[in-house]
Amino acid sequence: MSFITENISILKHQLPSSVKLIAVSKTKTVNDIIEAHNAGQRYFGENRVQELLNKKDLLPKDIEWHLIGHLQSNKVKYIVPFISMIQSIDSYNLLVIVNTEALKINRIVDCLLQIHIADEETKFGFSMHELCENLKSYNMLNLKNVRICGVMGMATFTSDTNQVKKEFGYLRDCFQSLKETFFRSNTSFEEISMGMSGDFELALKEGSTMVRIGSLIFGER
Ligand SMILES: *Cc1c(COP(=O)(O)O)cnc(C)c1O
Repeated sequence: MSFITENISILKHQLPSSVKLIAVSKTKTVNDIIEAHNAGQRYFGENRVQELLNKKDLLPKDIEWHLIGHLQSNKVKYIVPFISMIQSIDSYNLLVIVNTEALKINRIVDCLLQIHIADEETKFGFSMHELCENLKSYNMLNLKNVRICGVMGMATFTSDTNQVKKEFGYLRDCFQSLKETFFRSNTSFEEISMGMSGDFELALKEGSTMVRIGSLIFGER
């Protein structure tokens, strides 16, 4: 058994069956991805559009691709035809552009709202305040060609597990409050994407429904 196959099998045993595993394959080769696919993995995450476009045509068509990195507006049109979910919606403007491109080809694209939960300046995402203002002033729910399926967040890269736990707890609270305030009648709003190789166990305890795992599957980058 290859180590990729083995790693996926170990992870599957650790994850509750209700939690979706996104295998983060950025910087990894087509062969690595095929191995994971042979092990039954179908959800893959990439953070760069060009890299995703280069790889995807060489890979099985039943793969569901998730975009997990910052998306520039001028690249939206390249992924909208095939992407399974855009997890990194970090501005209202970006959501409008995804909606416009999706409308052109009569698709509805699943999206997550990325919320900034880390104690680091560099990570993208809405602040909760900004997101609520956006949701109040523009009706995001009127965009018919995007389906807002929940939230995504990345915790601070630190060994302080208390801090990471707090940040994941905060994201879960944001999700709950958004659901009650803006998405009460929206049955698709149900995902909390949080947890990576180093912190997924904490994320599970705080209510994650989707983990994005790279190095624990494919090895260090
Ligand atoms: C790279 C990346 C991951 C996976 O990171 P690992 O530590 O390798 O599991 C998850 N989410 C995002 C947004 C990433 O960019």
